Amino acid sequence: MKPAWLGAAALAAAIALPAGAQQVRPQIETRKVEGTENVYIFRNGNHQSIFVVTPAGVIATDPIALARPTGGADYVAEIRKVTDKPIKYLVYSHHHYDHIAGGKAFKDAGAKIVAHRRAKERLAQLADPTTPLPDEVFDDQRTLELGGTKMELTFVGLNHSDSTLVMRLPKERILFVVDLIPVGAFSGLGMIDYYPLEAFNSMKRILAMDWDRLVPGHPGLPADRLGTKKDVEDQIALQEAASEKVKAAARDGKCWQPAENELQIDQYKDMPNYANGRPYVVRRYCGLWGRGT
Ligand SMILES: [Zn+2]
Repeated sequence: MKPAWLGAAALAAAIALPAGAQQVRPQIETRKVEGTENVYIFRNGNHQSIFVVTPAGVIATDPIALARPTGGADYVAEIRKVTDKPIKYLVYSHHHYDHIAGGKAFKDAGAKIVAHRRAKERLAQLADPTTPLPDEVFDDQRTLELGGTKMELTFVGLNHSDSTLVMRLPKERILFVVDLIPVGAFSGLGMIDYYPLEAFNSMKRILAMDWDRLVPGHPGLPADRLGTKKDVEDQIALQEAASEKVKAAARDGKCWQPAENELQIDQYKDMPNYANGRPYVVRRYCGLWGRGT
């Protein structure tokens, strides 16, 4: 079957608007997830996270305010447009602060910050002034229950980082997973902290969970779409293809260079972010197969 992203390019060409007529995408946008009563996606630029509104308060995730000094307050203000219920929790998806900087506004609003234990250890070492430490941590699983809504937080092992949580809303059958499973785009910078062998196992665990739709930490392509289990399967296939290609190059003595400069993973050439992301993907697998790291 033709991959969705090839269709996307054709569609974009077909609906090209006259010069000057393009819609400008607002920097900040909040939308309700279709088919739910209380799950929202908050987007700031090219980052996004979810929040859930219940009669007893709000569960928010990832402030996404790095280099956006008002980003945390902007997010709280967006929540306030939807509800005046107290913000009870702020969950960090992982410790990379391009997603979690800006929590102060949530703490000031009374939220308790929840994260994986390793996220707190990392953040304590990094001491980023805009990223408050979690108030509550756990190792394997924790379920938040608020006003009739459950949000299950699971650590499925090492993958995109050593602190990534899978957030699952069992009733809504929705997952929020950040950076591990790009939706409709080639991997890239996200490989910097990646654990390649363990990540395969994590993705298989995610496939085995009970859910229908996945909200990614960066808007899905095309048209902000949500992911499905097919996207997880596609990501496993992509990483396997990259891994096998680089393994052969590494055993031919081509890592780090010239593989990082030249090696192509041909079947993904037309995928969004391929040109930018390819060197990061090759470098990570050169580390694995060329060095054992
Ligand atoms: Zn990350």
